[in-house]
Amino acid sequence: MALIREKDSKRLHIKSKLMGESLVGQSFIKSLEYVEQFRALPDVNVLKIGGQSITDMGATAVLPVLKEIVENAGQHKMIISTGGGTRSRHVYAIAMELGMPTGVISKLGQSVSEQNALMISTLLMPYGGIKVGHDDISKLAAYFNQGCIPVIHGMPPYGYWEHLPKEGRLPPNRTDMGAFLLAEVIGAKHCIFIKDEDGLYTDNPKVNPEAEFIPRIGAGELIEKNLDDLIIERSVLDMILRSQNLTEVQIVNGLKQGNITRALNGEHVGTIIFKDA
Ligand code: ADP
Ligand code: MG
Repeated sequence: MALIREKDSKRLHIKSKLMGESLVGQSFIKSLEYVEQFRALPDVNVLKIGGQSITDMGATAVLPVLKEIVENAGQHKMIISTGGGTRSRHVYAIAMELGMPTGVISKLGQSVSEQNALMISTLLMPYGGIKVGHDDISKLAAYFNQGCIPVIHGMPPYGYWEHLPKEGRLPPNRTDMGAFLLAEVIGAKHCIFIKDEDGLYTDNPKVNPEAEFIPRIGAGELIEKNLDDLIIERSVLDMILRSQNLTEVQIVNGLKQGNITRALNGEHVGTIIFKDA
């Protein structure tokens, strides 16, 4: 980078590759070269605890999941991201009736995932659980060095600025997306979604008993299939294709003991959705 002071004026120009560009030009953006993306926490696993699928089931689902997390805390660094669940859906339904815009509905979802982060971090306190906010991401290394298990609310902080969905008004970027983007920005090792089914099926297995299990699939291929219902937010699939760090995510059934441990150890349990383009 070079500083240039114009001879006949006192204006200072800072010469850079982006100088004078709109940053919109397609061929210009294509021509840019990047160094490899820096990974701040490459040995950290992001674990999303499903709101509807795990937390809402209460003690029977939550306590065994947390027990397995604690048992792994000695060997694996983990940050827990929390979903919203039934309370989110309830408040979304009321907000829809009242004509609330997407950005307001997103903010409502944020506070519910934060309720779950408070409960999960409280339960983990005897083992180093600490509730962190989105601004604490830059402090994560210090928490890990002290043996903490950070817990963060999953809803991404778009809030009022939430992107408008293609269809309807519900926020398209919810807690699955929050967990994914967190894993991407910290350069995490792995992003694991803990839910209540063995993984992705061709259809919702709770509704369609004929649904077939899909152990491994590319995000692009899955988008093409255009399945009516998914176990993960649809927007995450697009983001997997754009990711610079994470090349896959894994969805495991947290109701079956041992799955979280196996996923943390790099085993293929559940469904892996990978970057295929
Ligand atoms: P979370 O609480 O983690 O956000 P959700 O309840 O939003 O989880 O999504 C998980 C649920 O998605 C599963 O319990 C399952 O019933 C449903 N589901 C819908 N479509 C599928 C599919 N194609 N494969 C597997 N599960 C599906
Ligand atoms: Mg969900």
